[in-house]
Amino acid sequence: MATVKNTYILGIETSCDDTGLAIVSNGEIVAFEKSSQGIHQNTNGVVPQIAAQEHLREINSLFQSCLDGAGIEIEEISAIGVTSGPGLIGSLAVGASWALGLSQNLNLPIYGINHLEGHVFTLFFSDEKPKKFPVLVLLASGGHTMLLDWSYPKAFKRIFNTRDDSAGEALDKVATMLNLGFPGGPEIERHAEQAKDELSYRFTVPMRNKTGFSFSGLKTEARKKIREHDELNLADFCASFQKAAFDHLLDQSEKQLSLKQYHGIAIVGGVSANQKLRKQFQSLAQDHSLCFFAPPLKLSTDNGAMPAIVAEKMLNGEIETSFLTGVYSRFKSKK
Ligand code: ADP
Ligand code: MG
Repeated sequence: MATVKNTYILGIETSCDDTGLAIVSNGEIVAFEKSSQGIHQNTNGVVPQIAAQEHLREINSLFQSCLDGAGIEIEEISAIGVTSGPGLIGSLAVGASWALGLSQNLNLPIYGINHLEGHVFTLFFSDEKPKKFPVLVLLASGGHTMLLDWSYPKAFKRIFNTRDDSAGEALDKVATMLNLGFPGGPEIERHAEQAKDELSYRFTVPMRNKTGFSFSGLKTEARKKIREHDELNLADFCASFQKAAFDHLLDQSEKQLSLKQYHGIAIVGGVSANQKLRKQFQSLAQDHSLCFFAPPLKLSTDNGAMPAIVAEKMLNGEIETSFLTGVYSRFKSKK
């Protein structure tokens, strides 16, 4: 009987400040390496040219660790998926040119992967995977906050994007105002968990009677309240701000559920690492008798398994193929 040869797909993610490499085989992660750039703590935000340099510094050793982790030789890699956009051009270019070198060397197919599609496909690593579509997906990260209508194997459709800041950016900026460091989302979550009263600082939930996301007003309100209060209760403040931001995400998602019949609702992207947000969306799904999906915790934030799983599905012919042709900074939707 002929034996089926395993395929090993190398994924490379360098769109922002995380250098993520992973190897995926038959839908499972067999190696996972990630280095997050702490250097941007000093500037409370990512400096693009420094981010690019740091990716270059890390990528070789992470690749070696991936081969060791998977227990394979370099020649056993079957294909490469590299994030080609959207993201910081310099950072993307480092990952893409490094990957291109490897693909030429080993004569491997190389796919250019959309970072947002990568986030959505982390749902295929969950214990409970989406099987029935369409699924309404909230993508909330540092760079993006949008609602997506996803009918796999078709590409997702963007319903709407934030009008200004993303949810993660708002959390990061408010954390900076409070001197909590960068990235701020996990810090705000940590303080919010200690809160006694999450309604004590009354924030206005944005866009209650409108459709869309907007976080800039909430951020301005936070700045004003910080100035007004000499003695801020940090835990209650973080919880109050987080509650308004998350209520906004919930409100807008719930509105979409009333417009179309979905089989499930999912959250992906860095902000989906938040436990409170996961619980809130889980109960929203329950209220509407829908399945709820979220990635395994470590796959919420940027990582190499994202481009790897998309590339694996391209190699298997499950979804439309996009070979690497270059990198791009802004979101491009598929036809
Ligand atoms: P990118 O925006 O570059 O795609 P990620 O998808 O990794 O990056 O998302 C990073 C964002 O996720 C940051 O804004 C960070 O503050 C936020 N984040 C990470 N963990 C949490 C958390 N536990 N709660 C809320 N936000 C979080
Ligand atoms: Mg991301």
